[in-house]
Amino acid sequence: MKRTVEQLVRPNILRMKPYSSARDEYSGHEASVFLDANENPYNVPNNRYPDPMQRELKAALGRIKQVPPECIFLGNGSDEAIDLVYRAFCEPRVDNVVAIDPTYGMYQVCAEVNDVEYRKVLLDGHFQFTAHAMMEMADEHTKLMFLCSPNNPTGNTLARTEIEALLLGFDGLVVLDEAYIDFASETGFLPELEKYPNLIVLQTFSKAWGCAALRLGMAFASSDIVDIFNKIKYPYNVNMLTQRQALEMTYRLYEKERWVDTLKAERGWLGDALRCLPCVQEVYPTEANFFLVKVADAPAIYHYLVKCGIIVRSRHTVALCGNCLRITVGTHGENEQLIGALQKYEADE
Ligand SMILES: *Cc1c(COP(=O)(O)O)cnc(C)c1O
Repeated sequence: MKRTVEQLVRPNILRMKPYSSARDEYSGHEASVFLDANENPYNVPNNRYPDPMQRELKAALGRIKQVPPECIFLGNGSDEAIDLVYRAFCEPRVDNVVAIDPTYGMYQVCAEVNDVEYRKVLLDGHFQFTAHAMMEMADEHTKLMFLCSPNNPTGNTLARTEIEALLLGFDGLVVLDEAYIDFASETGFLPELEKYPNLIVLQTFSKAWGCAALRLGMAFASSDIVDIFNKIKYPYNVNMLTQRQALEMTYRLYEKERWVDTLKAERGWLGDALRCLPCVQEVYPTEANFFLVKVADAPAIYHYLVKCGIIVRSRHTVALCGNCLRITVGTHGENEQLIGALQKYEADE
């Protein structure tokens, strides 16, 4: 038998009573006079506290994602959800987490902030992992495992059979970060949410939806897990302007889909162009909106591009990514500028 959510959660979190905001209490009744929250009656609409549970937005997202609203947590970026899983489940200096390496840096940053041991399992030469290697790293204090598919910075999706094996075999929670899933050819794990009660899927408005400035992250999980996040989050963690703008984006879903189609086509063009450059040694396969590219001398090319006014991300110091740059797919004009500059880099040598 696997540990239940109640057995995995930190005892203090299980015991605590959540803050009850003014807006939590009245819900369900018709009301037009709000004298409960010490707000200013002037300066509509910015004067009112936002819905702490983001009901309207969750209803819209639930329809789009085919997930019940009670299985959705919304946060100030995915980063809030990442921090909350540590605070909810990991006892500082006692519990630990296991993650693939290399991957998104925030999992380790949040581990360090929360004083939780972070154990890395190196990916193989194809940037793949095995459930077996992850579970070898675990002990009775391992509460969480972090996977990211498509993975950042490598760009590839992780093998579905291994993700499933980990969900079945690991006696703890698996956080699967799908920040780039809209750009991938496979569908991701949201349809499997009911099948795996230990699965937490992270998605975000920052990439395919084109809303990085809004700071809106989504976590999808069993309602038991989402209830815990809701219990410990800041009451008004997603502001009114973000809720409004995101709701508006859900009415224009087609726009996101068009951007994704455009960027996938552009990704094909950019990959071909990069592969033709003499300074490029390898363009790794990608299912995301970026490329990991191995070059002759990553620090030199990075600084050359900066001088050209083009900023990419050097991943030179990251495990398995020596001499690699991570390059986001931009507009066609931006991608042409990048290729033009890299062609000139050859000429300069
Ligand atoms: C960009 C990115 C995110 C997004 O984080 P936000 O806080 O929602 O902007 C999450 N995970 C990964 C792996 C990313 O690359």
